[in-house]
Amino acid sequence: MAKFRVNALTEVLNRKPVEVLREKNLVSDYYGMLVFNESKMKKYLSKDAYKAVMEAIESGTTINRKMADQVAQGMKTWALENGATHYTHWFHPLTDGTAEKHDAFVEHGSEASVIEAFSGSLLAQQEPDASSFPSGGIRQTFEARGYTAWDPTSPAFISETTLTIPTIFISYTGEALDYKTPLLRAISAVDKAATTVCQYFDKDVTSVRTNLGWEQEYFLIDEALYMARPDLVLTGRTLMGHPSSKDQQLDDHYFSSIPTRANRFMQDVENEAYKLGIPLKTRHNEVAPNQFEFAPIFEEANLANDHNQLMMDIMQKIARRHNFRILFHEKPFKGINGSGKHNNWSLQTNTGVNLYSPGKNPKSNLQFLTFVVNTLKAVYDGQDLLRASILTASNTHRLGANEAPPSILSVFLGTEVSNMLNLMEEAVVDRKMTPDEKTALKLNIGRIPEIILDNTDRNRTSPFAFTGNRFEFRAVGSSANNASALIVLNALVANQLTKFQKAVDALIEKKVKKDEAIFQVLKELIILSKPICFNGDGYSENWVKEAAKRGLTNIKNVPESLASYMKPEFKELFQQLEIFSESELKGRVEVEYEKFIMKIQIESRVLADLAINHIVPVAIEYQTMLLENVKNLKEVFSGEEFKKLAGGRVELIKTINEHISAIKAKREEMIEERKKANVINDVVKKAKTYDNKVKPYLEEIREHIDKLELIVDNERWPLPKYRELLFTR
Ligand code: ADP
Ligand code: MG
Repeated sequence: MAKFRVNALTEVLNRKPVEVLREKNLVSDYYGMLVFNESKMKKYLSKDAYKAVMEAIESGTTINRKMADQVAQGMKTWALENGATHYTHWFHPLTDGTAEKHDAFVEHGSEASVIEAFSGSLLAQQEPDASSFPSGGIRQTFEARGYTAWDPTSPAFISETTLTIPTIFISYTGEALDYKTPLLRAISAVDKAATTVCQYFDKDVTSVRTNLGWEQEYFLIDEALYMARPDLVLTGRTLMGHPSSKDQQLDDHYFSSIPTRANRFMQDVENEAYKLGIPLKTRHNEVAPNQFEFAPIFEEANLANDHNQLMMDIMQKIARRHNFRILFHEKPFKGINGSGKHNNWSLQTNTGVNLYSPGKNPKSNLQFLTFVVNTLKAVYDGQDLLRASILTASNTHRLGANEAPPSILSVFLGTEVSNMLNLMEEAVVDRKMTPDEKTALKLNIGRIPEIILDNTDRNRTSPFAFTGNRFEFRAVGSSANNASALIVLNALVANQLTKFQKAVDALIEKKVKKDEAIFQVLKELIILSKPICFNGDGYSENWVKEAAKRGLTNIKNVPESLASYMKPEFKELFQQLEIFSESELKGRVEVEYEKFIMKIQIESRVLADLAINHIVPVAIEYQTMLLENVKNLKEVFSGEEFKKLAGGRVELIKTINEHISAIKAKREEMIEERKKANVINDVVKKAKTYDNKVKPYLEEIREHIDKLELIVDNERWPLPKYRELLFTR
């Protein structure tokens, strides 16, 4: 690997100084400068147009054609003043990443001239050829029309020289073909259900918004080394590689001083992110070597998710300026930590109350407990659906590995909230409470704030943890679109809140007092949800056993997990909440199966090629060298002396041979299995076959290659090793 080491070193020596990092002194001076935000709208729009957009944002009203024209004019003027030449509708198709097709503002003017033009209809709707985006059979190619439609709740921004307009993406027949459409629907479903429940506590609540604070983990790899690893380039993870003798054993990377080169990259990213109005807050080293994290301040979930997607894009672009490549894969390296994307999630009323923050009096605390308990029940009932929303081909490598939660959903509440729930469970009975009991309970409930704020106990091993004022869904994969998890979480919570409200209303109808009705229903929910509550070590073997006893599901493979989407109760839930029609759901799940198949297929092909073209030839070369050596020894030495000298080498030659033969044989078998799988038409069967028959070979072949890596002359080994990938900074 000498060649690559020299390359990497050259990169380091040639490293250009970072451009001017902060154009002005304060971030607040240029924060959002490339966003068509409220202050720009005030400046560039007429009063009426401004009002129309603000109303659309706040209460979802439609913007009429005339107003849209005015908004388009204002946006165009602002964009041209800021160097934009093109515009694009930007959306989240069901692939990994976002999509954009740039059109120039130019139109024919008089004679041979051109003018810059942009209209309301171009702003509001466009019709990209949708035939090459996955739809899961919703769209036939002959009716490939798809529409993008402006989402005014997420402001337009300028990316390089392009005015970028966040949009939803739907088929000609109105079916969602993206992540944003159902996300907006799910956000609206929770809004409706939660607002109704809030009415028990506060009549001023008229809307509830979803908040998301994401934490994005990633690896930074030297570009020269990355380019020399076809597996990283093509699959995003290493399909082979012996662990580095030192990796994360000493815990010396987590939160340690950020390497200068990485820090310069981060500063550049932050600079761009701030211009685009992404409120980045935190940067730090993660557990594995060369692993890092970025986190912003939380925002409204739709905007936050747009920002996460945009951020991933910016990070990839800026990494290249610093001769880095980013790995967003959930498990790029075997044996060390993988990357997640924690979703910090909460609900907030229009009156500014965080529904997951304990309040200042018994009433607001009862509201807090209502939302906590209903979330608990939602997660319990929807454990399979939540898992299905985050378990992908790449995330399977991370979940259940030693540094990540197993594929069992559980909720960590911490001692204080747990105690409170126990209290409620004991205190309320299905009879009228005595005044004393009531006072005692209210007193206890009233005490929550001091307790919780004093005691923010954390449990890092829980996939779904209450962290003082929000829930943190930690099983989300680093490469995922957050929407996948948020759609399901919001749907489940909306559904549960509605059930809760119906149960409470039914009791009130029977003349039970409101507070008591709420207590009674909550008690029931607490008892029912008990199995999902777990405050212990989620990574331990004992938990796996305990969870099985409790009847919690533990599904580790993607095909089985995906099937949960099609369970009748979940299908109905999505339909009732108008998040997915049956055909949308079916199409979406099919896309997921296809993605899974494709990812395994690609990995299998890449490994087969690398094994035969890169590894085996080098192993044979080295083996030949050893054979030469043995031959030479034989010429000089004989008898016992020769045996003594050459014995070890002969054994090594045999070992190498065994590995080579195994690699070749298993490679052939894997290709055969792939061929068999490829002719299966049923996408579910095909995915299962890929999972059961093809995927295991990836590990089996790798084992032999990794053993060879330890034996073969380092100078000849054709791929950068873990120690180089992880420690070049
Ligand atoms: P960590 O979990 O690593 O300690 P932080 O405390 O920095 O991380 O918070 C992680 C994310 O949670 C940040 O994006 C933060 O803004 C977000 N967050 C904090 N409070 C809330 C809330 N009420 N709702 C949603 N996200 C929140
Ligand atoms: Mg966190």
